[in-house]
Amino acid sequence: MVHDVCSAVHPMAAASPFFRQFDLPAHGVQLCRPEVAYGHPIDERRAAIAYADLERTCAGLGVDGARWRRFMEPLIARTDEVTETLLGDFRHSPRPRIAALLASRVLGTGAFRGTEARALLSGVAAHALGRLPSLVGNGIAVLLGHLAHTNGWPIPRGGTEKITDALVADLRAHGGCVHTDARVTDLSELAHARVVLLDLAPRGFLDVAASSLPDGYRRALRRVQYGPAAAKVDFLVTEPIPWRNTELAQAGTVHLGGPREAVYAAERAVAAGKRAKEPYVLLAQPMVADPSRGLPNKQPIWAYAHVPHGDSLDATAVIRRRIEQYAPGFGDTVLASRAVSATELETYNANYVGGDIAAAAVTMWQALARPVLRWDAHRTPLRGVYLCSAATAPGPGVHGMSGLYAAKAVLRREFGLDLPDDYRFGRTSPVS
Ligand SMILES: Cc1cc2nc3c(=O)[nH]c(=O)nc-3n(C[C@H](O)[C@H](O)[C@H](O)COP(=O)(O)OP(=O)(O)OC[C@H]3O[C@@H](n4cnc5c(N)ncnc54)[C@H](O)[C@@H]3O)c2cc1C
Repeated sequence: MVHDVCSAVHPMAAASPFFRQFDLPAHGVQLCRPEVAYGHPIDERRAAIAYADLERTCAGLGVDGARWRRFMEPLIARTDEVTETLLGDFRHSPRPRIAALLASRVLGTGAFRGTEARALLSGVAAHALGRLPSLVGNGIAVLLGHLAHTNGWPIPRGGTEKITDALVADLRAHGGCVHTDARVTDLSELAHARVVLLDLAPRGFLDVAASSLPDGYRRALRRVQYGPAAAKVDFLVTEPIPWRNTELAQAGTVHLGGPREAVYAAERAVAAGKRAKEPYVLLAQPMVADPSRGLPNKQPIWAYAHVPHGDSLDATAVIRRRIEQYAPGFGDTVLASRAVSATELETYNANYVGGDIAAAAVTMWQALARPVLRWDAHRTPLRGVYLCSAATAPGPGVHGMSGLYAAKAVLRREFGLDLPDDYRFGRTSPVS
């Protein structure tokens, strides 16, 4: 029985330039793709469904079927460029054709007329964890929305830890080692290292290095805003969720938000620091894609609700109620549950300040100048010290790109190695 503690669903790990080159399957990670990438109940019976199959999705979207196809097809045709641009470090402007395509799509998410398509896109935009509608939310809807029809929204067989295991095994094969349970409280503890890459949020960096930082940079880090939070609940259930709309039973991911207006209202309330009456809930059913996850009559369900920054709410009751709205009887299937509030998330991982799982709010400004405005955002003013966390470009998610950009900056600045963009990293011989 495996519950994912943090991330569970991996469209970006399947599609990002880093992971495409690293090649997870070649490192033994099986990415299981559900037929339904994500579903979104709208009311007690109706649900909007994003199948991996584009045509099937369009067929279920009524008045918006043809529009969904026109919206998605050009993105799907150029998915590598779309993904590279949206997971870029924002220092290079995209080629004019891809820039025009992305601008038209980011601005065009509002063009849908039917409840279903609107709900689908708003549910994906809500992954931005902030006020909606927003350009950043639309950008996330474009990225993740089109990936549903290309690489899919996969779930790793055996759990997300398999991705970590693969990365650690590769590191070890190249002579590296990993120490866990070793909190760094002061940068001086790492003074022996020629180069340091810190997987820290701005707050964490200040905690370990504030006294060494120049005033301007320190002030800029202090100005970084943290956003709304996640309150997580894992359920152990006896059987699949008894969704009224049976198509939802095939979905790896389900967005519990209702119609677009309800999603927006909930996200606005939470961004304003208030608990939403009907909060947006992101839910994963890992066994839809990976039957190895459970045992007879024991299945994991992964969920989190969006809550205000720093909320200490135990979200068990609220998430249970949200699921029951669309799946009466769910409560009777629950054997056990484990809640981690937003404040407890921060205790678990200091990068999640106030439970903000993005490590810094994903606002338009903080998406472009992440964590602060600098040409090389991964480099800090301290000699040999770099940032590589989700608080740096391109932002949150399991895509490996923040680490890749930081590593490239290190190689360029510290070792004089200027790697071309198409450099095939990860293909060097392991240390024997
Ligand atoms: C509940 C939840 C669900 C999520 N779901 C998804 C999902 O389904 N798909 C997806 O793509 N993304 C998801 N994410 C987001 C994703 O997990 C993060 O964006 C990503 O892990 C960020 O990577 P990172 O390298 O910046 O830092 P992290 O993965 O946060 O790693 C930072 C590490 O540094 C450690 N650390 C912090 N301070 C110190 C210190 N002073 N000394 C030593 N160690 C320290 C932390 O304990 C942690 O282990 C989710 C996140 C959460 C919390």
